[in-house]
Amino acid sequence: MTDIDRSKPSEEGKRRYPPDGFHPGFADIRVACTCGPACADPCNGHCGCLACEHSLSDALE
Ligand SMILES: [Zn+2]
Ligand SMILES: [Zn+2]
Repeated sequence: MTDIDRSKPSEEGKRRYPPDGFHPGFADIRVACTCGPACADPCNGHCGCLACEHSLSDALE
């Protein structure tokens, strides 16, 4: 497993959170989606992606 930089969106992240791969729900903090192509959609943060984990908590509120 390669070391993933969680501050930078992956290419798959850009597809999931266009145009730049950051979760749109935060004004101050930009959370990058680090999902890979094999990741479930939605993955709910199971891969360690903070953006998708935050999406899940948004949906539960
Ligand atoms: Zn993600
Ligand atoms: Zn993921």
